[in-house]
Amino acid sequence: MSRNPQSPASPSQSSSPLLFPAIPAPLAAAFGVSLPLRCRRYGQQLEDLEIDFQQPLRPQLETELLTACTRDAQGHSLDPEFFWRWGVSDRTAGLLSLVALELGPTLALTVTCPSCQQVMEVAIALDALHQLQSETAQDVATVSLPQQDLQVRRPTGRDQLTWLTQAAQGDPPDLQTMLHSLLVVQPSEESLPNSLPEDLTPVLPALNQALDDLDPLVNFSLAVTCPHCGQPSQPDIDLGAWALRVLQRVQQRLIETVHRLACRYHWTEVEILALPEWRRDRYLALIDREVLA
Ligand SMILES: [Zn+2]
Repeated sequence: MSRNPQSPASPSQSSSPLLFPAIPAPLAAAFGVSLPLRCRRYGQQLEDLEIDFQQPLRPQLETELLTACTRDAQGHSLDPEFFWRWGVSDRTAGLLSLVALELGPTLALTVTCPSCQQVMEVAIALDALHQLQSETAQDVATVSLPQQDLQVRRPTGRDQLTWLTQAAQGDPPDLQTMLHSLLVVQPSEESLPNSLPEDLTPVLPALNQALDDLDPLVNFSLAVTCPHCGQPSQPDIDLGAWALRVLQRVQQRLIETVHRLACRYHWTEVEILALPEWRRDRYLALIDREVLA
């Protein structure tokens, strides 16, 4: 599937820390969460150092980041299970909000031209992605088949984790099992999943399209024209993986800050991270001045 927000996008005027995706009110109510959600910059607190970017299951990493940096409208921290219940695109949108607090509201990515293999930069306004997300923020899609209508719900982080865990244990679920788990069973039709056609091949395009439409930030691609060779192309962009790489660099920078301040002042991690960022920066500047002197 293809989505084409404008690129290069005009810089957004928004600087609000409320860039999170729209979360369904029933989900928020189920967890006693008061909306809107707020996010803080990643890479400021001790708990930010405890997040392991090398862990094998990416959904787990995503949930840890979202849990660490999100508070509800009353400033309460949130149950990780709340984030597991988000749609996959919503989780990506949440990570992109964290990146925007770091890099600003226009996301600058690099993609490789499939024609000449040169790297080019593209800019995407976070607002455009959120708009794309909110326009399709429905939880269930209907797929019309000749015999019946099937309703599929958007996969959540929990679904992803289940499938990846099974794959990691050497028992990857087949496509039919995955689709079964996403079918919405009406109370009067409890036998519905069993009525899925044995051979899913004819309905796969329709099911895939329905799932893509529910999760516009998952299979994301962008129409670009290469500045080097002039060829148009539409490369896929893994926005979630890109966001994680940016946040990992933030953590690396924080580790380097702790290292330099600990070497010079012999403070502990806890003491260093208790300092506000502006004071850490002042001390780093002083160390730099000594090195240059
Ligand atoms: Zn090119």
